[in-house]
Amino acid sequence: MDDFLHECIGILNRCCKVNEEDLNFFELSLEDKSHSHSILFSLLALVLVANPREDVAAVTAYQTKQEGITVYFTKNDLSQGTINHVNNLKALVQTTALDPQVTLQKFHELFFEIIVPYCRGKIFRRLEEMRKRLEVTKKSDNTVNSTFDDLLEIYHRFQSDQTPSYNAKGHADKEAIRLSASNDLFDGLCEVLDSVKMEAACDLFNITPRDFVPLAAHAYIVGYASINTVIAKSSVNLLPLLRSLQKVGDYFRCATRLFRAITESPLSRRRFAELKVVAIASIAPIERDLNMNWMLVLRCLWHRRTARPFPITKGQWLANHSNGMALYEKHRKQKFVAHAELTLMTAIVEDHRRLPTVIGVSKACCGFCTAFVNGVNQYRDQTKLSTWHLPGSHGNCYVCQLPSVSDRSLLAGVAQLKEYLESKVVDLITKAIPLFMSETPPQWSSSEGSETSQSPTASFYPTTKRPLSKDWGSRK
Ligand SMILES: [Zn+2]
Repeated sequence: MDDFLHECIGILNRCCKVNEEDLNFFELSLEDKSHSHSILFSLLALVLVANPREDVAAVTAYQTKQEGITVYFTKNDLSQGTINHVNNLKALVQTTALDPQVTLQKFHELFFEIIVPYCRGKIFRRLEEMRKRLEVTKKSDNTVNSTFDDLLEIYHRFQSDQTPSYNAKGHADKEAIRLSASNDLFDGLCEVLDSVKMEAACDLFNITPRDFVPLAAHAYIVGYASINTVIAKSSVNLLPLLRSLQKVGDYFRCATRLFRAITESPLSRRRFAELKVVAIASIAPIERDLNMNWMLVLRCLWHRRTARPFPITKGQWLANHSNGMALYEKHRKQKFVAHAELTLMTAIVEDHRRLPTVIGVSKACCGFCTAFVNGVNQYRDQTKLSTWHLPGSHGNCYVCQLPSVSDRSLLAGVAQLKEYLESKVVDLITKAIPLFMSETPPQWSSSEGSETSQSPTASFYPTTKRPLSKDWGSRK
């Protein structure tokens, strides 16, 4: 029997609502200290992304005394162009490691000469998003903080309101203070925010590396200022603006973190000088014709999971998902893409025989990949083995390929992924049951007021004349 898993993915992809960035995610990205490997790996994955959409990279690295540092990378669709790009970056890392004359500023210059041309599409999209957010104006009767002017005003208010004094916390804060003529955090943030808006008023698509570096640096400072966690809590509508600044700032963050990692010590220099990179080939997408009898799919899934009668009509399902199902029916042929993080994990376990580690991904993981990783980790946890660490997830449902694996822990991941898929479909069906609908359709029962053939003949049972046996209650 067909397991209908591809249809499930197709239906979930069309019918689940897309989760946007939330406060948690914003705060996670502000965490500048913990999991620094995970941050650097995810930033390195980001600088391998060229196209604004559906281009996702995953990166990890191992370091041993014997072999030094080996970086593994892949993408949803890895091309020779990306491999060449990575080799250019590798050459830059090696020269920087060997040459103490390469300062941070020089490194920025060289790094962005490689990054800007290659990542232009993705960078442009992030810059454009940021500029759009910076330019938003609102009607005078709107009192919700959401714009550039609101953010600037909040910084100004903090600046004039000296009590209680707010202490600089992170690296971005210190940089803001350095850029302030009066050595004041909020004065610095006002300066930098103003500057970002002016620098973003240029031909963003043709931006040169020389112009991009200061813009990304300033976006980093405002985006990662620690006060933003306080501001984001009271003014949630400023989140999209702050997040758009972070996303441009991430390129600068990547350059700086990479430079610090290379030049940390003479030993780190020696290791990076011998850096090895391994490209993991991506897995070709699988094309499938989806079963268009989606009611059959839903019914089968429901029976398999619950063994109960199917609780809704086609109309009740469509009342919630008419748009989604129209799209489902319009695109019978679907391409199931192998997601980079799962391709990387599988290759590391099955081909390279390495232990779980931290994997960086250029964007948050989808719900399916997260379920897979959770399954693998649960299996390994039970046997007290080390586990994988991947970025967080928005739980969104993309048309993801089920990984084909043979390792036991990875098989546990596939099992969990299937479980997740099915339970998610069951959830959607349950949510489509109209409120107040009784288990029994109303026309089958009548009110107790009138006598019908269905009225229970309760008088058949005589009333009790003596107390019920107390035996069971008093037993000691
Ligand atoms: Zn995924």
